[in-house]
Amino acid sequence: MITAGIDIGSSALKLVILESTGKVLARYVGRAGYGSGARAREFCKSVGVNIDATVATGYGRGQIDWADKSVTELTCQVRWARQERPAARTIIDIGGQDCKVMRISESGTLADFLLNDKCAAGTGRFLEVMAAALEVPVEELGSVPNGPSAGISSTCTVFAESEVMSAVASGLNKEEVIRGINDAVASRVATLALRLGCIPEVVITGGVAQNARIVSAISRILGTRPIVPKEPQLTAAWGAALLAHDKFC
Ligand code: ADP
Repeated sequence: MITAGIDIGSSALKLVILESTGKVLARYVGRAGYGSGARAREFCKSVGVNIDATVATGYGRGQIDWADKSVTELTCQVRWARQERPAARTIIDIGGQDCKVMRISESGTLADFLLNDKCAAGTGRFLEVMAAALEVPVEELGSVPNGPSAGISSTCTVFAESEVMSAVASGLNKEEVIRGINDAVASRVATLALRLGCIPEVVITGGVAQNARIVSAISRILGTRPIVPKEPQLTAAWGAALLAHDKFC
């Protein structure tokens, strides 16, 4: 039996094609937007296997009108963790336009969660705006070496962008500004996580989990060492494919 999990997020489209053995047959990450549904269908076809069931998730899941079921990302993240990180008690998911903190019960169900979806600070969007202001690819913000960090005091993305522009104009060292940006995101995320309470094992997922500097800054604030899965952006799509197995295979 083969299933597909499709996650159309606010900024990225993710797919996982899964065998019932648990082996990932194929994966895809691309930009979300108009045509995500059609691209997801093309990718599924291109894998050249018969897909028995599909579960869609994410902000744009309504675009997958052929899915057997649509579920929330929270359900998918928790399902993924039950399979791949059974010791996880907290998941921090840092996506393109929101950040979610989930608590998982001993029995592997969602016990509680907190969501920041009103403000871009503490999300990938904040990083994208700042990366554009600095003319640096967002993927490179996490590889800055250790050193002093420019304090970005504004929590609002628009004001923080002005702060970054002023720092650039005044000739402040670019790496210092990048460290300040990473620290600002980490501080917002960690504050949300501490509001829910962070029981280890803590797992960080979502596209922003690929920024090692943000992960280590969160780790310092929380006082615990979080786990980052190998493909942190794919966990919700992977969980969706697992749910498709549970329900339809
Ligand atoms: P969504 O589901 O909301 O689309 P994702 O979990 O797919 O969110 O993450 C998308 C975000 O991850 C984007 O804002 C993007 O800028 C960010 N991102 C992608 N790759 C990296 C990276 N290497 N370092 C930091 N951020 C990244």
